[in-house]
Amino acid sequence: MKTLFSTFILGALFSQAVQAQDNDATMLDKIYTQSFYHGEAYDNLHYLTKTIGHRIAGSQKAEDAVVWSKSLMEKLPFDKVYLQDVQLPYWDRGKPEEAYVVGAKKQALNILALGGSVGTGSKGITAEVIEVELLSDLKKYGDAVRGKIVFVNKTWDESLVETGAAYGLNSGQRSRGPAEVAKLGGVAYLFRSLSSSSQDDYPHTGGTRYVNGIDSIPALAISALSATRLSEALKANPKAKVFLRNNSAWKGMVNSHNVIAEWRGTEKPDEIITIGGHIDSWDVGEGAHDNGTGTMGTLDAIRTLMKLGYKPKHTIRLVFYMNEENGVNGSMKYGEVALAKNEKIIAAIESDAGGFAPRGFDIKASAEKVQWIQKQWKPLFEERFWVSRFLQGSPGVDSGIWGAHFPNTVMFNFRPDPHRYFDIHHTAKDVFEAVDRRELQSGVAAIASLLYLVDQQAEQLH
Ligand SMILES: [Zn+2]
Repeated sequence: MKTLFSTFILGALFSQAVQAQDNDATMLDKIYTQSFYHGEAYDNLHYLTKTIGHRIAGSQKAEDAVVWSKSLMEKLPFDKVYLQDVQLPYWDRGKPEEAYVVGAKKQALNILALGGSVGTGSKGITAEVIEVELLSDLKKYGDAVRGKIVFVNKTWDESLVETGAAYGLNSGQRSRGPAEVAKLGGVAYLFRSLSSSSQDDYPHTGGTRYVNGIDSIPALAISALSATRLSEALKANPKAKVFLRNNSAWKGMVNSHNVIAEWRGTEKPDEIITIGGHIDSWDVGEGAHDNGTGTMGTLDAIRTLMKLGYKPKHTIRLVFYMNEENGVNGSMKYGEVALAKNEKIIAAIESDAGGFAPRGFDIKASAEKVQWIQKQWKPLFEERFWVSRFLQGSPGVDSGIWGAHFPNTVMFNFRPDPHRYFDIHHTAKDVFEAVDRRELQSGVAAIASLLYLVDQQAEQLH
């Protein structure tokens, strides 16, 4: 009798589980259909990139993006839309940079100041150049670095499909360079752009930093092709001089904002799922993939669920962080406020890796939880939607920053196809035209599907 009864219970539980899986599969179908036919991420991205344009934190355009994003959120049935004050330092590029190899025939070099760089002054800097692959190679030059421009010319590892890893191999030299060069008496830092293409003549900007007590020297990114040209010029004439001029400067602290919207949970409103990405961009191109797609995409993921009549169990909180590129003050503020309120943030989803065709999510959670997700959720995405990457990994930058206060929050980092991202990342090429609507809306659907599953089954993640 007991055995029969257990069999009955087990059977009932099993058919319930199958039923739930079927319901989830049906919901994912609806989400994808809704996103492809009625998604608005692409149109919103058009407005953000073409009408507002690039939007470095602290600029008027960043503030325009804040005001417009808030109005977009207010058109949807969120329960609350508000701005969160963020203080941040404003850095301005000033007039366009100029660089060339000095000689009878000037050989132009394409450069961009790295974010945070000081300027050369209006007369620019003319000096001989020391070329190295690694900053550590400077040791052998000793005092010869004094008065010179240091040119770090490390090529990209093209063998890696995981272009984010290739980026990570060399990004440390971008941030450490200026201080290490200044310590040795160098007058400027010229850094080969972090580009996945060796045939790229666009410089890629990105953050750098100075160290208190060490002189701040101009720090500039040079395009991959210009780096190759410069290297050849130096081989032909090791005494060749380079002229550099940039006009960038820090302009002091300004007030800005994170943009936040909340969709209140019907069962556990005090438990929060945070989703979003950064609304600021670098001041070149239009910040389309980085990170117009992440902000417009996560907003559209929520909108997709709303249009399908979904009612979340937990509170879903959309956050557009300010200043990811140039200081992460927005996510620090978000974390401080959430911590002070002792909030229960059960999960986080971030999109900040571009709007290419979705491949999956990196997950910051225990190996057991990731295995559970692989078993339960991955089959829903894999065959039908070609989304198959559910691996333990790092959260996005913004969630990672505030997540320091919330070590138990399960975090998902959206991973689109990585091949082309670092060709356009932080350059004038990051424009609306580089985004494909179908790929973007497929990513929106993947994110909306994940958000739905997290909300439905959050208890399984803890
Ligand atoms: Zn970004």
